[in-house]
Amino acid sequence: VENSKVSVAVRVRPFSNREKNEETFPVVSMTGQETVVQHPDTKQAYSFIYDFSFWSFDKCHPNFASQETVYRTLTVPLLRRAFDGYNICLFAYGQTGSGKSYTMMGYSEEQGIIPRFCEDLFTQIAHTETQQVSFHLEMSYFEVYNEKIHDLLVFRAENGPKKHPLRVREHPVFGPYCWLELGNKQRATAATGMNDKSSRSHSVFTLVMTQTKTEIIEEEEHDRTIISHINLIDLAGSERCSATRTSGERLKEGVSINKSLLTLGKVISALSEQSQSRRRAFIPYRESVLTWLLKESLGGNSKTAMIATVSPAASNVEETLSTLRYAKQACLIINIAKVNEDMNA
Ligand code: ADP
Ligand code: MG
Repeated sequence: VENSKVSVAVRVRPFSNREKNEETFPVVSMTGQETVVQHPDTKQAYSFIYDFSFWSFDKCHPNFASQETVYRTLTVPLLRRAFDGYNICLFAYGQTGSGKSYTMMGYSEEQGIIPRFCEDLFTQIAHTETQQVSFHLEMSYFEVYNEKIHDLLVFRAENGPKKHPLRVREHPVFGPYCWLELGNKQRATAATGMNDKSSRSHSVFTLVMTQTKTEIIEEEEHDRTIISHINLIDLAGSERCSATRTSGERLKEGVSINKSLLTLGKVISALSEQSQSRRRAFIPYRESVLTWLLKESLGGNSKTAMIATVSPAASNVEETLSTLRYAKQACLIINIAKVNEDMNA
């Protein structure tokens, strides 16, 4: 058993075309672990220290953080913990368009954390698997939308009411890649015709990895299993927390998005207070689907990391500051992680 602080990173992306066109200017700078935001109106400088700051604003900068850099720094240590039998969790938080999906999944050649993680995981399994050590993996990929869970690996026929579970789930070689591709495709399909649905939904990629080691103790075979739950999460746009919704469906969606994200905020703040005061507090995990799913990852038995993504632009300064404040609270959470182990003869 060991105490482990949630590790927190912040990443700043390049200007979008829109930001270039509106001729805004950068207000975010980074030096070492420090991120500074200069408010364009008040000129006030706000300083934040996190475990890692990733400067992805311009490629020619000596400290430029590529997809590879972010993956190596933030996720490789988590991968190692997963093989040791710890639960791990990584989530991306930030306003819509700030780079959450780019960071977690990536776009075309620019692969993000999830595909890189899967690739390394499978390579490592192949290297580790022997007669004495075997692996079993289960995967799920789903969205939380309107406080409901939608499985992205259930194939929905276009004109039929029936759902066909995907066979590729069990494919030994192409499995994970097919899953990811199909899941992403379904995510995209579900989003069309639904006004920016991806900004309102949380996508959760989960692997359950079981390692079984056969040990001979006094000429008897004993199986020792260790299980790791791996959660990689692309959260809904954080502006959904603050935006006021006005009518009908939008109101309903706004309310429930608020619910999961707001509850996540409440959970994070209750946990950080609890860690500071060392007194048990009530943590409202059950108030939303997302926090209920993340119960073990937040404040529980998990090695957890968060990446906050921000825009560099003056025009987004308020959202950037609110993201950075949110991330600062997550820094205070201390989880208690232990190996999930089982011994039987
Ligand atoms: P979000 O998922 O937070 O809504 P996206 O990840 O889709 O935002 O990013 C919005 C746009 O910005 C995309 O076109 C994406 O390719 C681009 N982008 C985001 N982060 C980066 C980055 N670090 N480097 C280059 N382009 C980025
Ligand atoms: Mg996205």
